Amino acid sequence: MDLVQLLRSQARKYRCVQCGESMAECGINVLAQQGNRALVRVTCRSCNDENLLQIIFQTEAPDAAVTAPSVDEGGERVDAPISGDEILELHEILAGHAGPLTELLARR
Ligand SMILES: [Zn+2]
Repeated sequence: MDLVQLLRSQARKYRCVQCGESMAECGINVLAQQGNRALVRVTCRSCNDENLLQIIFQTEAPDAAVTAPSVDEGGERVDAPISGDEILELHEILAGHAGPLTELLARR
């Protein structure tokens, strides 16, 4: 499964923060990829709201769990590679960022 397919399968679990439509049909554009991280632009098909997501791939390595603490809340899935917190965090970073997007990946 390639990255876009993987993201597509995850996107359908999310809704647009602007219009509330399902992101299942959203546009997915991989802007940069470095190591186990990628920067992806997701465009809502309904309202054209664009979001930049930093994707962190989960690996099979045993110590991967250290950077991905799982919180079990009422049986909610906790293994999704994209979290709402990460999206919000990146929003804040991008709000004050004027340079090339690749700088974000290098810095983080
Ligand atoms: Zn939307």
